[in-house]
Amino acid sequence: MEASPPFVTRFAPSPTGLLHLGHAHSALAGWRRARAAGGRFLLRIEDIDPTRCRPEFTDAILEDLSWLGLDWDGAVRVQSAHLAEYRAALDALTARGLLYPCFCTRADIARELAASLSAPHGPDGPLYPGTCRRLPETERAARITAGEAHALRLDMARALALAPPGLSFAEEGEGRIACDPARFGDVVLARKDVPASYHLCVTHDDALQGVTLVTRGEDLKPATDLHRLLQALMGWPEPAYAHHPLLTDATGRRLAKRDRAATLRELRQAGTSPAEARALAGWPD
Ligand code: GLU
Repeated sequence: MEASPPFVTRFAPSPTGLLHLGHAHSALAGWRRARAAGGRFLLRIEDIDPTRCRPEFTDAILEDLSWLGLDWDGAVRVQSAHLAEYRAALDALTARGLLYPCFCTRADIARELAASLSAPHGPDGPLYPGTCRRLPETERAARITAGEAHALRLDMARALALAPPGLSFAEEGEGRIACDPARFGDVVLARKDVPASYHLCVTHDDALQGVTLVTRGEDLKPATDLHRLLQALMGWPEPAYAHHPLLTDATGRRLAKRDRAATLRELRQAGTSPAEARALAGWPD
């Protein structure tokens, strides 16, 4: 009989600020599942965006999670140290004609959208109108040679033509959920200023690290449609998913960094114990 793969969960924060109770809820969700199953719990720092991420927040994440009582297995994977691996995945997609360079600025796209009669919307806003998809190959090559900054977009129609039909993902407690990645249109997989994207790196790393259950907030559930598409295109294994409701405050509003939701740092400085913080994060011992 084939041995079943080890049970692996992960917490994958972006170091754009201090962890708040919402993050603690998410981290504990993955950690508790792994520990209950005798599996592995991984910590991954998703810091590919140098405009938003700061090393001091990475240090604070490690310190705050340890204070909260979490431990993790193996070395922390720091995405910014692995850009060549994401580049290789992008190159593989390019070689199959699935990516194209996009030279548009935000203003170009806004102008184009304003001129169109109906601009379809996806989970991340209006869909890219496809301007650069229609550029002749010679113009693309000339603009790249001239050093013009460009993003890389997924040619969604081609991607869907190559992917197996009827993509779905397994959501714990809900069964299989049908995916509709076309809702994202020609999504950016490498930005002009950042050599990769969240969607690419998160699916790459979950596959590389053998993650079997992705636990994360339900705000990321729509993105799973796109992640399944990338997994299918790249031949990466499919993890199961458990999206949890976002932690809300006493008035029912979801906690977010921008609202200065209670950070673990503040709680600790105010004398809260780790056990009290775990309870505040929705996981009483
Ligand atoms: N890095 C992402 C974030 O902090 C989470 C990625 C994930 O769990 O899939 O929002």
